[in-house]
Amino acid sequence: MLVITGGLLHASPSARGELRDIVIDGDTIVDIVAPGSVHNANAATIDASRRLIIPGLINGHTHSHGGLSKGVGDLWSLEHLLNAAPWIGGRRATEHKHLAALINAVEQVEKGCTACYDLFFEFPSPTVDGMEAVASAYDRVGLRAVIAPMVADLTFYQSVPGLIEALPDDAREQARDLRIGEADATIAALRVIAAGWSHPADRIRLGIAPTIPQHCTREFMIGCRDIAREHGLAMQSHVSEPRYLSASSFKFAGMSMTETMDACGIVGPWFSAAHAVWINEKDMALLGSKGAQVSHNAGSNLRLGSGIAAVREYLRHGVTVGIGTDGSASSDNQNMFEAMRYATFVSRIRGLPPEEWLSTAEAFRMATEGSARILGMQDFIGKIARGYKADLVLLNLDTPNYMPLNNATHQLVFTEDGTAVDKVLISGKLVVSGGRAIGIDHAALAAQAQQVVERLSALNAQARHFAERIEPMVSNFCRGLADDDAMHALRRDISPGVCPRCGTAH
Ligand SMILES: [Zn+2]
Repeated sequence: MLVITGGLLHASPSARGELRDIVIDGDTIVDIVAPGSVHNANAATIDASRRLIIPGLINGHTHSHGGLSKGVGDLWSLEHLLNAAPWIGGRRATEHKHLAALINAVEQVEKGCTACYDLFFEFPSPTVDGMEAVASAYDRVGLRAVIAPMVADLTFYQSVPGLIEALPDDAREQARDLRIGEADATIAALRVIAAGWSHPADRIRLGIAPTIPQHCTREFMIGCRDIAREHGLAMQSHVSEPRYLSASSFKFAGMSMTETMDACGIVGPWFSAAHAVWINEKDMALLGSKGAQVSHNAGSNLRLGSGIAAVREYLRHGVTVGIGTDGSASSDNQNMFEAMRYATFVSRIRGLPPEEWLSTAEAFRMATEGSARILGMQDFIGKIARGYKADLVLLNLDTPNYMPLNNATHQLVFTEDGTAVDKVLISGKLVVSGGRAIGIDHAALAAQAQQVVERLSALNAQARHFAERIEPMVSNFCRGLADDDAMHALRRDISPGVCPRCGTAH
């Protein structure tokens, strides 16, 4: 038995929390009691005096392969990032996949996150070795996770109708020659991974992530869905993130990205849509009525200029909303406190009255209970309550973030930046102490990461040269799609702007 004593338990709506001791048996919270009321000489204790205790934050959308990619681009929208993906993440050996996931996991736990939904990409197809390399990184750090192989059967260039043809002759061949795993091979690989998955379901779960509907043929998406349904796996896809994809869906598929997913039988309680920026009321109603969720990744949406998701409207349609950081190639950190703050801030610049902005309590609930639902783990994580896993974060109240403590919930969202994280427990086990992940040699990890990215950047130099050469053409082409009449089909008031077709805001 373990007792966390003398801590201030965050308990909304109480502004300053409540003094409580938390009793843990194995990996589970068994009681929450008045301070000093446990008398058990055999119980281990953790002194939590001057500590604010919150449930671990849960990251609804990240990419572990992004662990080596912080700061790789600047004036990039999503199409720039997709164009650059072959050189950013190319030529990685199994140990590099482990290293990226390890760095991503260390950053998450040190910033108060205890579980994540990870869309992990391997080129050309997912492998058992790659998945195990990522799983072992989570094991090493102690982070709970859903690892979803991020899969597609079309390359970025194939996914944008007319793009390859629009490139100059020499570039056209190279873009055409780029190949991702064939649908059959990738589906077969997913089947092998799902059949052999042996990690405890409450710790490291398998998911499936057909990355973006336009990057997948219909047959491929149905194949993914079948495996997910057969094995009860949580699915996630990037849905309506940038304007060009949202608009081109209407133009080329004759329906929205959400409707495309639904036509493949993917939208259901097991499914979450990441980003979901350019979505109309019909799509929201569809997601809500089918019990699907949304991961709101406001930091990434700002960084890539994707837009602002209409979270208030999602809530009104009964959609469960979680919060995510996205991968470090597009946000560029794994700080869930910051992700909560962004979520509240962007809700306030959409022209809605203050009573419809996202409150700190709502953002906090999304980053805990909402994201837990995305992971399919809502029955045992996301709350500090009897019967829930002991995933706890102890924040040091003797840091400037809480001088003074006026309102715990407001300060968690508006003020906290991760610097007050002192201890983190996952499943009752201490994984962070003094703000540092236990058992991790940071200097060695930094040296290894530097060495690896230098080696990989030499190996990927040619791919980088190609991507940079065609970047302006790719960007112009995608922008052209976004300005097409198809944008008219979307609710324009979701993000501020004027409809390019009719010239009015609607
Ligand atoms: Zn993403």
